[in-house]
Amino acid sequence: MLIDNHGRLINYLRLAITDRCNLRCFYCMPENGIKYMKKKDLLSFEEMFRLIRVFGDLGISKIRITGGEPFVRNGIISFLKEISELESIMEINITTNGTFTIDKISALEKMGIKSVNLSLDSLDSQRFFDITRRDLFDQVMMTYRKLVESKIRVKTNMVVMDGRNIEDIYPMIELTKYDDVSVRFIEEMPFNGTEGQGNATIWPAKKIMKYIEEKYSYQKILDPPASTSLNYKIPGYVGSFGIIPAYSRTFCGSCNRIRLTPQGTLRTCLYGEGQVNFRDLIRGSVTDDVLRNYLIKAIGNRANDGFEAEKSRSETFPASESMATIGG
Ligand code: SAM
Ligand code: SF4
Repeated sequence: MLIDNHGRLINYLRLAITDRCNLRCFYCMPENGIKYMKKKDLLSFEEMFRLIRVFGDLGISKIRITGGEPFVRNGIISFLKEISELESIMEINITTNGTFTIDKISALEKMGIKSVNLSLDSLDSQRFFDITRRDLFDQVMMTYRKLVESKIRVKTNMVVMDGRNIEDIYPMIELTKYDDVSVRFIEEMPFNGTEGQGNATIWPAKKIMKYIEEKYSYQKILDPPASTSLNYKIPGYVGSFGIIPAYSRTFCGSCNRIRLTPQGTLRTCLYGEGQVNFRDLIRGSVTDDVLRNYLIKAIGNRANDGFEAEKSRSETFPASESMATIGG
């Protein structure tokens, strides 16, 4: 078991398999994109597989595949199949923008993918276009429908942004009336690939809840262990909704996750600097034992929360980061 220096059990890896993406979501990337890493600098699937196997030996049993957009990387389906066959990995989840996903859903279902988080920032095609800067709303909605009809658990992610999609909050909740889906409202974080804070949190979780209370009576439902979302339900509705205080960072006390960026850097907190680069270690031909020891050491030296991690960044920390290069 991996226990960090604050007594938290670490069993969850978020793996960003690419920094590439076909959308340009306002809150994640500038209009003209980010400077992608060279292909050779990205972890190969073989390297990722080795790390998952080694981390699995230490107690990582749950994986989220993210990016960038995971489905723009060729070979993702065989890779997923391989990790789904690892005994140590009990649960695989994927976060996707849903634009290249629809024809993969039955394969994902067959290999037992537990849940898909679909980014869906608006239910209006014009607002969707204004946020993502791409005209792919219909494709994403078709993916949504097919996912809801599949065996895979579906969650949607909406980053709440003043002046952009507040009018989508109620229609999103209405989705839960007939669909067994969890719609989640996320506080915007300052990782949009441009310098400074961007739009960060004009709509904190409390404000989102207050807005919801103006129209709905709701009931609190049980949050899964180490959940980042606070979850609720409208009585009589099939699905549920959740709020993710990603910027207020009120969930750090039970944080069970680590991240691997597309170039193999381990980040033990989203808000902190990378601890160690596993790609360089692997390419330096180290043994599995050495890899395990680096992971144990990093877990033994985690920041207490996202605020401490943010404060501990060095002067060389980049002035701007995109969520696509960290792995959202
Ligand atoms: N491309 C995939 C997608 O969009 O679902 C996966 C990668 S994306 C970086 C993962 C999640 O991070 C998305 O749900 C997105 O909404 C969220 N995200 C990206 N930038 C964010 C930001 N600045 N603040 C809050 N959430 C953000
Ligand atoms: Fe791409 Fe996802 Fe970032 Fe949007 S949030 S630009 S879909 S990586």
